[in-house]
Formats: sequence, structure tokens, C-alpha cells
Amino acid sequence: MSKKREGIAVGSKCTWWDDAQNAMDVGGVLLCPHCKEPVRGVVESEEKFMQGVNERPDDFKAFVKWTKGKCFTSFDKAAISYRQHTGKQVRL
Ligand SMILES: [Zn+2]
Repeated sequence: MSKKREGIAVGSKCTWWDDAQNAMDVGGVLLCPHCKEPVRGVVESEEKFMQGVNERPDDFKAFVKWTKGKCFTSFDKAAISYRQHTGKQVRL
């Protein structure tokens, strides 16, 4: 976990996404550091990652930004936690 990685790692079985250097590296395989499931892939930048949600309303984008570095098994669960922490409701 010492060498610096570029880009944004995106979880496969969870909502986790974060700077790739924060991913867990087991023999070159990147894992979500929380649930230890392999990542789906790495996109080159946060800007690029957010492009995928640029069409969505601002409240959804804010929600996605909030999920950075957080691992939930589903977006429904993430949305519940988001509401508890921010008082904001997000439509998925
Ligand atoms: Zn995870």
C-alpha cells in the first residue's frame, strides 16, 4: 500500500469509490479497504468519474460526492445514512 496510485478506484460490490491510493492492494489487485471486495476498475480522475453523474440533479451529485471513501452494500443504504448525516433526502 506504499506506492502512490493515480486515479479513482470504484467498488464492484459496494458503493465505495475513492482515490486509488486509498484502495487496498493485495498482490496488485485493488480492493475496497472496508469490505475487501475487488474494485470494478479505476478511472483516471474524479472529474472523469463525476462525468457519469453530471446529467443527474445537483442533490444526487452532492450525494455521490458524499459517498466518496464510504462503503455501503447498496445505494439505498447509502441514501439512508446520507439522510441521517445531512438531513437531506436524495432520490436515487
Ligand atoms: Zn466496500
